[in-house]
Amino acid sequence: MRSGFAAIVGRPNVGKSTLVNQIIGEKVTIVSPRANTTRHQIRGVLSTPGVQIVFVDTPGIHKPKTRLGERLNDSANDAFSDVDVLIAMVEATKAVGPGDRRVLGRCLEVAERSGAALAICVNKADSAGSSKTGEQLLFVLAAAAELAEELRTPLALERAEYFPVSAKTGKGVKELVAFVTAHLDEGPAFYPEAMISDQDEAKHIAELVREQLLYRTRDELPHAIHCQVTEWEGQHIRVEILVERDSQKGIVIGKGGEVLKAVGTAARAQLPEGTHLELVVRVEKNWQSRADLLDRFGF
Ligand code: GDP
Ligand code: MG
Repeated sequence: MRSGFAAIVGRPNVGKSTLVNQIIGEKVTIVSPRANTTRHQIRGVLSTPGVQIVFVDTPGIHKPKTRLGERLNDSANDAFSDVDVLIAMVEATKAVGPGDRRVLGRCLEVAERSGAALAICVNKADSAGSSKTGEQLLFVLAAAAELAEELRTPLALERAEYFPVSAKTGKGVKELVAFVTAHLDEGPAFYPEAMISDQDEAKHIAELVREQLLYRTRDELPHAIHCQVTEWEGQHIRVEILVERDSQKGIVIGKGGEVLKAVGTAARAQLPEGTHLELVVRVEKNWQSRADLLDRFGF
């Protein structure tokens, strides 16, 4: 038996969560077009005969603006330590920027130090097309070489491999998983075979509700939303939606309650038949900047 951990690292929105879902084949982690959708490290577990890979989906590394932002960065940096494979992800649809360089640089440094294998992925090949994806691969290769020179990580650079992928369609993902598998050591399974995620059920349900809210809100509001299950009795589940200001509460509820109703309907559709989902919106002033609340929410 071989087993090990692979961390997926990249700027917000490059498609890390989508990749985990594609690999595991079930919805492990929520995905949305808004940055900072993934707030906790979530593990997706792939068990095949003789092999178990634990994929760690990390919150994107970014310049923090709030205390929550800082903690998300810390959590992403923690995920680096002690993995067998680092998957650094950039997207083919956008120029490689300073944020991507930061990610590549960090991955090279950690790989050099820990000996972890490094897979550098160019995602969203489906929407970029093959020639643009090819160009981006060359660009990333050059950027990695430059960074490796600057950071003195020759071994990590030499061991790095490059993968064009589409997390959405699954193209190239098999090759990536094969690379990860090839770099695992002998070891026992970490999780029962039937388990695909280490996220508990209540947290998952709160995340399903937050996912629907992210689809229906914009600007600063998505960041100001926190969801938690506050009551669970039989088939009745209450999810509390926290926002930071009264005006945000109004938006989340919507005219005549229509936003909240749509959120409830869409989230319930993903839960077992007969589940009664109660949604409550509450204002918790500036929760993103309050250490006590962040502790309580488990950030
Ligand atoms: P994360 O922040 O890195 O976890 O990114 P997500 O997985 O949440 O994805 C961000 C957005 O990019 C979502 O709208 C996804 O549907 C989209 N996306 C992710 N992977 C792909 C891909 O391979 N192709 C395309 N076209 N879109 C993708
Ligand atoms: Mg994510």
